[in-house]
Parts: sequence; C-alpha cells; structure tokens
Amino acid sequence: MTEKIKMTTPLVEMDGDEMTRILWQMIKEELLTPFIELKTEYYDLGLVHRNETDDQVTYDAAEATKKYGVAVKCATITPNAARMPEYHLKEMWKSPNGTIRAILDGTVFRAPIIVKGIEPYVRTWKKPICIARHAYGDVYKNVEMKIPGPGKVELVYTGKDGQEMRETVHEYEGPGIAQGMHNLNKSIESFARSCFNYAIDTKQDIWFASKDTISKKYDHTFKDIFQEIFDREYKEKFDAMGIEYFYTLIDDAVARVIKSEGGYIWACKNYDGDVMSDMVATAFGSLAMMTSVLVSPEGYYEYEAAHGTVQRHYYKHLKGEETSTNSVATIFAWTGALRKRGELDGIEALSSFADKLEAATLKTIEDGKMTKDLAIMTTIPNPTVLNSRDFIVAVRQTLEESL
Ligand code: NAP
Ligand code: MG
Repeated sequence: MTEKIKMTTPLVEMDGDEMTRILWQMIKEELLTPFIELKTEYYDLGLVHRNETDDQVTYDAAEATKKYGVAVKCATITPNAARMPEYHLKEMWKSPNGTIRAILDGTVFRAPIIVKGIEPYVRTWKKPICIARHAYGDVYKNVEMKIPGPGKVELVYTGKDGQEMRETVHEYEGPGIAQGMHNLNKSIESFARSCFNYAIDTKQDIWFASKDTISKKYDHTFKDIFQEIFDREYKEKFDAMGIEYFYTLIDDAVARVIKSEGGYIWACKNYDGDVMSDMVATAFGSLAMMTSVLVSPEGYYEYEAAHGTVQRHYYKHLKGEETSTNSVATIFAWTGALRKRGELDGIEALSSFADKLEAATLKTIEDGKMTKDLAIMTTIPNPTVLNSRDFIVAVRQTLEESL
C-alpha cells in the first residue's frame, strides 16, 4: 500500500454520545487511520466527560476551533430530565451545539446527500435544498417563567444612559407562562452576509422568510437587515451572476418550497431552521443523509451530521443486539472537515482523499449495499442490508478498489 497522507494542522475532533460515538470509532478505524496519519486535537464532548468538567470541555473545544479553523463533531446528547439520573448529572448542561454556535456566531448550512436509488418523497424536487439556519439567539437563548398566579409581566429596557422602555407583556388573572427572547443586529448582519456569500460560492438563489406581518419589530428587523445588506453589498454581484435574493413570509415560503424543483439556499431563523431542516432531510430520504456545517463570519468551520445520537439504536447495541445505523452523514462530516483542512493547508492529497471517500460511500449504496433505513426506501431492487460495522467495512472495500 502507498504511504499514508500526512497532515500539518490538526483538526479539532469533538467526540460525542451513544450510537454515533460507536460509529465515530469505527469510521476512524476503518476509513481514516489506515489511509491518513490523522492529526487531531481531541475533545471528549460525551456527556460523561462534559459532566466531569462542568461543561468546560465544550467551551475549550469551541476555542480550539477558533485557533485551528476546522472542527469535526460527533452528535451529542442535549440533556433533558430523563438524562439527569441516567448520567448522574450535576446540572442539566446546555446543548453543546448551542454553546458552540454562540461562541462562533456562525451560520449552519445543511444539505441533503443525494444518491441514486434514494428518491425524494416530494416528486418535484430534483436538486438539493440547502437550509441555512441562523445559529444565534431567539428561543435558544430565551428566559422563561412559569407565572404562579395573578400579576403583571413586563418587558423593561434600561439603557446605559438611564433611558427606560417598558412594555406590558400580559396582565395575568391566573397561572400561565412567559418567555423573553433576544437577538443582535450584529449577529443578524453576519447571518445575512454568510448566506449571501454562500449563495455566491455555490451559485444558487437564496430565499429568506420570517413572520414580519405578525412580529412587526422582531422579525421585521431580520427582513430589513437582509434587504439593506443585500442592496448595499450584494445586488450587483448577484445580478452579474444571474442569481436572486427572494424574501417572502414563512408560510408562503413553506408552500413554495414544496412546489419547487430545489437547487437553492433557504435561509431560516434559528427555530425555523431547526424544524425545517428535519422536514427537508426526511423528505429527501433520510435524516441520516443530511450534512451540516457551521460557518462563522471569520471563516471557521465545524462539520457534523444533522441527526442526533440515535439513542434507540444505542440501547439495542447495549443489549448486544445487532444495529444497522447509517453512518453516511458522519462520514461526510469527516470528509467535509478533511477537505477544508486540505484546502487551507494546501494538501491536495487530503482533499482528494475526501472526494474519494465520499464517492466510495455513494457507490457502495448505489451497488445495493446499505443500512436498513435506506434499504426500506430505496428503488434499487433487492438491496443487501448491512449492520452498522459491515456497511463501513463495505465502504472501505469500495474505497480500496478506487485507490
Ligand atoms: P436522532 O438521534 O436523530 O434519532 C431519531 C430517529 O431517527 C432514530 O431513532 C432513527 O429512527 C432515525 N435516525 C436518525 N439518525 C439515524 C441514522 N444515522 N441511522 C439510522 N436511523 C437514524 O434523534 P433523537 O432520538 O430525538 O435524539 C437522540 C439524542 O440526540 C438526544 O439526546 C438529542 O439531544 C441528541 N441530538 C443531538 C444532535 C446533535 O448533536 N447535533 C442533534 C439532534 C439530537 P428509528 O429508531 O426508527 O430507526
Ligand atoms: Mg432539530
């Protein structure tokens, strides 16, 4: 065999939880370390270690991403009440993705991995729909209250100069709930720029939508900032390239997306992006076939799969039962990061290895070898259903044949 590919700068490697943590190890063993002298700075974001370090490891991993520029992340548990006893947690630690996004202030771009034999449920969709999710604020940085009984909830702004603004949220006559959210012009501006830049990079139209008719100050500010930045900084470039920026109401956007052919970027506010990316991923075939990359305005990249830790499969795995968990999106997280590292460090062999590994992954599926989630929906006749490890081994065989 030829010599292993050498790296100069380490990737920031963020390990994770449950079934994806198992896949992570298998991917490294079978698909990476046999071919690359893999150089990573390892951060264990598994919940056990996050709890041991009082979540410091998540902050350290995000800072390392600023230092080196490229990270690859495994799916991680966002703790809920059920996880407290399961992992003996000191606290209900925040979502690592939320923490990392807040530190890098980036935009998440999610695009389906298109492969022959897995046809979108929406018949009109011919090309990928890439979702750009705003990665800061709104409900993910909210404060909430359970209102015990009669009383008033107010929104109060106290300026540094002493200026005060006050709005009554509600006069309660009985128990209820209240929520405060915020966002920052700076973050919305960098979101808009990331989206317009990515549209130019990928030569695609960009759509943006919000609920500005109902939310006349909050959502309307998003609409205004996008339009101002577009008119001032991007309109000419877009015109020259023949691509478009299109704004509409979120409900109109949803209807148009379903009737479209695809082939554009759909910029979404934080919550819309969370929900719509799951919808788009599922409609394109499978949540396990969706890639995700967080791009910061400074040009830092964090690659991951769009799906979670696949908890149900992990519990089967723990009972010694066989699993058939799809590792494609996690493989593509690694290839995305390796390709970018190769580009930044001028290591052509690394970028071209990433291309070959992606091609081998898709060819394996097109040859009829796949995990159960794809086998039940493929148009390929008589697919071979492989377990979690055997699929990765099959990709390795295809890859070795291509090298
Ligand atoms: P999930 O892990 O995405 O899995 C939901 C279901 O989707 C699975 O039970 C499975 O369906 C199917 N699925 C997802 N990925 C798959 C794959 N690679 N191969 C095959 N099937 C796949 O979501 P969840 O169960 O709601 O969440 C589990 C944990 O993940 C939670 O603790 C959550 O906090 C965390 N999470 C993390 C991230 C992240 O780190 N980016 C994102 C989302 C959720 P079947 O069971 O029907 O086979
Ligand atoms: Mg989600």
